[in-house]
Amino acid sequence: MDAEAIVKELRGTYGTGKTKSYEWRVSQLKALFKIAENHEKEITDALYSDLSKPELEAFIHEISMMKTACKLALKELKRWMKPEKVKTSLTSFPSSAEIVPEPLGVVLVISAWNYPFLLSLDPVIGAIAAGNAVVLKPSEIAPATSSVLAKLLGQYMDVSAIRVVEGAVPETTALLEQKWDKIFYTGNGKVGRIVLAAAAKHLTPVVLELGGKSPVVVDSNIDYKIAVRRIIAGKWGCNNGQACISPDYIITTKENVPKLLDAMKQELEKFYGKDPLKSGDLSRIVNANHFQRLSKLLDDKKVVDKVVHGGQRDEDNLKISPTILLDVPEDSLIMKEEIFGPLLPIITVNKVEDSIQFINAREKPLAAYLFTSNKKLEEEFVMNISAGGLLINDTTLQVALSTLPFGGVGESGMGSCHGKFSFDSFSHKKAVLRRSFAGDVPARYPPYTTGKARFLKALLNGDILGLIRALIGW
Ligand code: NAD
Repeated sequence: MDAEAIVKELRGTYGTGKTKSYEWRVSQLKALFKIAENHEKEITDALYSDLSKPELEAFIHEISMMKTACKLALKELKRWMKPEKVKTSLTSFPSSAEIVPEPLGVVLVISAWNYPFLLSLDPVIGAIAAGNAVVLKPSEIAPATSSVLAKLLGQYMDVSAIRVVEGAVPETTALLEQKWDKIFYTGNGKVGRIVLAAAAKHLTPVVLELGGKSPVVVDSNIDYKIAVRRIIAGKWGCNNGQACISPDYIITTKENVPKLLDAMKQELEKFYGKDPLKSGDLSRIVNANHFQRLSKLLDDKKVVDKVVHGGQRDEDNLKISPTILLDVPEDSLIMKEEIFGPLLPIITVNKVEDSIQFINAREKPLAAYLFTSNKKLEEEFVMNISAGGLLINDTTLQVALSTLPFGGVGESGMGSCHGKFSFDSFSHKKAVLRRSFAGDVPARYPPYTTGKARFLKALLNGDILGLIRALIGW
């Protein structure tokens, strides 16, 4: 792979103006859609090989979401591309003004392993819709999906403007040395900092889609069964907890714990059986490194006696069962880093309102969830918790709504994606002011006389009487 040569070639294509046309964008979006439509089995098999991802999760969370994003872009593209007329003022009278979205140029998408199909193609859809040439670098930690993406994009897409570069750190480093017009990175914050530093050299703007510890606050006045099912769906039903917006920990009051725990145990057994390590409905841990990382969190001396459910591990098959820990110390490893796996600690507070302070004392998460029927608490939560996104009485569904921006704040990232937000992330909003030769105001030109000054001051202050006086020389 010669990163410099690839960027040079794509820059050449972009320079011809080809990627800017509506027709080219539509043809490439349709080609992407066909990839998902024609190769569903191949993609599902690759996701199974990389993560043992259950077929239904692969379809709903990756293939279908990617197809929906594609369909939306195709449906809305004309509207998104249309210049937006805006108001003008007396200063430029007579004139018209508009905001023209223009592509940025040649952009780089670096994606992560946990949703390797969706996280690769969702930003690519935005980049193409906005009229850019794009290089995609999928994650080497999901090698089967990376290879399917390279093969299918090579077959279906216009390779003079859209490329897949496979590889790990050396290849990504070589790509990051190039000058890009935007970098869209999904992954952990440590690498996010490397991306940001590389981008700074060329003054390249970036979107960083990172993670964090997303809390779930559970109040007492709720339907426990439904709440627990929704927590399970967002945790273990999303790649066995290996999802950026999966619940990372629960906060509730001591009195709530027995009811909550009972409901969780019951529902978990209904969903995954008595031996969840054998369940076909749970993804495995992606690789031995991540298995060791999660094992270290569980083997931490500070939490070994805190496991109240699960805790089974099968190292040979990289499986960890849904595991709940109660009252882990705040300085334990599991509370210091993003868990990104099937472990779920429960933290207890005296009053449910105290959870707001607990969350705010930590880095801003990508998501925060609250289960309650108390409207006052809900309002307090919405007004006082800073997170990428909030969801009341459910988990993870915010990701499926293209009318909401998806992205982090602070440690959980910068910039956003999905629907029009992706289009905007890959566009420059160009300000265009149009004037004619009529209505030239001599007062703006030297020599600056007192009369001109009186006129201009009155004009800019919106002082109509002063304006009339200045005009008639009174
Ligand atoms: P990863 O290991 O696949 O890394 C992401 C990308 O960074 C890969 O393409 C990889 O090749 C590249 N990379 C790794 N090390 C690098 C280096 N030293 N220099 C340059 N590039 C390098 O994925 P990950 O980081 O393990 O992903 C998990 C993290 O991503 C979690 O924190 C999760 O919350 C976050 N995430 C966020 C979102 C989101 O949309 N906000 C989605 C998924 C995952």
